[in-house]
Amino acid sequence: MNDPIIIDGSKGEGGGQMLRTSLALSAAYGKPFEMLNIRAKRDKPGLKRQHLTCVRAVAQICGAQVEGDEVGSMRLSFKPGKIKGGTYQFDIGTAGSVMLVAQTVIPVLLRAEEPSTVTITGGTHVPFAPIWEFFAETYLPELRKMGACVEAELEQCGFYPAAGGVVKLRVWPYDESKRPARYELTDLGAYKGGIVEGVVSHIPRSIAEAEVGIVGNQLRDLALERVVREVDALGPGNYCCARLRYERATVVISAIGTYGKSRKSVANEAAHQIRDFVKSGKACEKHLADQLLVPLHLFVGTELEWSDGWQNYIDANAWNLAIQKETSHYTTNETVIAAFMSAG
Ligand code: ATP
Repeated sequence: MNDPIIIDGSKGEGGGQMLRTSLALSAAYGKPFEMLNIRAKRDKPGLKRQHLTCVRAVAQICGAQVEGDEVGSMRLSFKPGKIKGGTYQFDIGTAGSVMLVAQTVIPVLLRAEEPSTVTITGGTHVPFAPIWEFFAETYLPELRKMGACVEAELEQCGFYPAAGGVVKLRVWPYDESKRPARYELTDLGAYKGGIVEGVVSHIPRSIAEAEVGIVGNQLRDLALERVVREVDALGPGNYCCARLRYERATVVISAIGTYGKSRKSVANEAAHQIRDFVKSGKACEKHLADQLLVPLHLFVGTELEWSDGWQNYIDANAWNLAIQKETSHYTTNETVIAAFMSAG
């Protein structure tokens, strides 16, 4: 096998996404990698449960040889084998993000020869990660536009710290005949109205009512329908999210309520994020942009497999995103992808 690609986790954003991208590309391209200084720019560096679950999940799916897969580890060696679809269950064991684990394994399972059913347990609505609605209504539809066949179902919400959220995925092998000649996310079309939803679990309904009231009143021009919902998760939880429906896509923007954060700050945060996105006039929400990069390289703009070996070829004209804002997650992700593309 080739020499491992070295990824320095202290560069750029310095967080968990560098690891998730490396895992997905390593398995998909059959290229080994070694990651040093994992999550070096975070307060508690090294692998957390969510990242470890990603490592073990991808390792199980592609029969990888792994060293350094322990909580707190800042160094990982990963040698992928053959990808196998099937039935998998991954339990994060904390409120680490189910959606981030899902986004790591999906591109890998799309490369399998068999369909897969995956159950992931952990947090479904947690800070600094996509919430279920974003994943199901904003991210997955874009993946489908790239030709991917993936279905997902939320069985139970999971909040920090009690967790217990469950998401089920069905992933079918990628059908090359569905690969789009070109992918564009540059124009959402006309705004068709939206919803602001406040959701609570085991805390007063009035919190969600206040949140949707504040967001709805701050963004009257968007004429958001107001919805309040109670769910029965393992523990208390709260989030407020807007679905902005456009002709060609739905954009979900959210804020998570956590212990000690007032309903007013949750609502203000959501309203601010929504306003920022709408004002940008761009089609690709800032978080979505960094999350689309791996699937875009795998399923739209890159051909890696060649009949007698590996061939790197990026068709820079194959896709185009009009991005709300180029975040450090986005630029760092590009760098990690480039490291895999340029390795032989
Ligand atoms: P850490 O930062 O502790 O390493 P992490 O593993 O969650 O944690 P990050 O590298 O910060 O890793 O990646 C977080 C991911 O979650 C990014 O892809 C980012 O776009 C996404 N994300 C964060 N907040 C939101 C949000 N509000 N909506 C959608 N996606 C989000």
